[in-house]
Amino acid sequence: MSIQGPVSEQAVAENVDVLSSTQAVVAEALQRLGMPEGMYELLKEPLRVLTVRFPVRMDDGSVQVFTGYRAQHNDAVGPTKGGIRLHPDVTEDEIKALSIWMSIKCGIANLPYGGGKGGIVCDPRQMSFAEIERLSRAYVRAISQIVGPTKDIPAPDVFSNSQNMAWMLDEYSHIREFDSPGFITGKPLVLGGSRGRERATARGVMICAEEAARLRGRTLDGARVIVQGFGNVGSYIAQAMFETGARVVGISDAYGALYDEAGLDIPDLLERRDSFGTVTKLFKQTITNKELLEKPCDILIPAAIENQITQDNAPRISADIVVEAANGPTTLTATKILADRGVLLVPDVLGNAGGVIVSYFEWVQNNQGLYWTDEEVDRRLVDSMRASFTGVYEAAHHYGVDMRLAAYIVGVRRMAESAKWRGWV
Ligand code: NAD
Repeated sequence: MSIQGPVSEQAVAENVDVLSSTQAVVAEALQRLGMPEGMYELLKEPLRVLTVRFPVRMDDGSVQVFTGYRAQHNDAVGPTKGGIRLHPDVTEDEIKALSIWMSIKCGIANLPYGGGKGGIVCDPRQMSFAEIERLSRAYVRAISQIVGPTKDIPAPDVFSNSQNMAWMLDEYSHIREFDSPGFITGKPLVLGGSRGRERATARGVMICAEEAARLRGRTLDGARVIVQGFGNVGSYIAQAMFETGARVVGISDAYGALYDEAGLDIPDLLERRDSFGTVTKLFKQTITNKELLEKPCDILIPAAIENQITQDNAPRISADIVVEAANGPTTLTATKILADRGVLLVPDVLGNAGGVIVSYFEWVQNNQGLYWTDEEVDRRLVDSMRASFTGVYEAAHHYGVDMRLAAYIVGVRRMAESAKWRGWV
């Protein structure tokens, strides 16, 4: 039996279409698991995608109509969960693919969720605070029928943050007329947010890097590390690496990169970075992001944007460990090249799962009305990330596949089994 992904090899090779390339890996994972053909039909697209158009009053008195989406990939395991992206390039296909990635992440981390994702086509950088508040509230009104603490639980994503979550929670509570902190995660602490949520993604990346180094018979102490991207995720990783005793030899932002074989002064760079994660503009001697990725290092952590490691530069990546903190930084062809070269690649669906794991902790704390300390959250996150890493690593050996395919095999397994038990396939 063979399950065919619907995409051309060229599209997969160049990773030009995020939905098609995701479907291709899902198809291969299901095939390795020996799942019936109907399972791919079920899992290749979300069960539900709601498209909404809603008017928002702008500060100048005019009305602008925005388009938004909410995709719910699969709820065989439990309610769906995933962030809300505010970006001008949001498309329906992107939101669908991101909802599938969330399903995979939840499966890897053994969370009682399926994947969801939302998006609004907008550019919050060009909008006032008041306009963004009205936009956030209007979006919740538009999707309120299909979301909820036991249905579909949103969270922040690109260009949305705890303030957006607070407005959305407030709007939802008004609609439902009861207090419902478990409706959304990534909230401010005072509204039921979890300790450790802000650093959770970076913390998860660190745990994966530690595990990967251990498999290589090393520790992070003294390791030469390059982090691409100095935003929410990248800056916390650079700081944690620095504090652990690693030598952070390279960092970058959208405007360029810094590299110093002797190690960069990370505390100084953190002090000088702006709120958009920019710091290299302050330096005369910079190199490009492209050059940075090929510089000598032991661990490379892409933490910026997608498609950074491609078939062009994969043969020249010097690191023998790559931990993907960003979503989709390595193309499928480059994944194969790195695997053939013996590079240990920790794929995004595992590497950055710390964010959704602590989001789950936030929801659990909301449901029980009892809140954990930083230490409690960290202990549980470490246990969960280590178990996730081990599960994927063992699957890679068991099936004789690269870490990305192994992650998808682990990630779809529980969802597929749940769907079978329910009699869906
Ligand atoms: P951010 O906007 O805070 O930071 C992005 C960083 O990347 C900035 O330093 C920016 O200057 C840099 N950058 C932007 N364009 C670039 C380019 N063309 N080349 C090099 N650098 C560039 O974003 P973030 O929250 O840190 O997210 C980074 C990545 O991690 C994204 O792929 C995101 O989807 C992923 N991620 C984030 C979280 C989270 O909790 N924030 C969770 C899971 C995955």
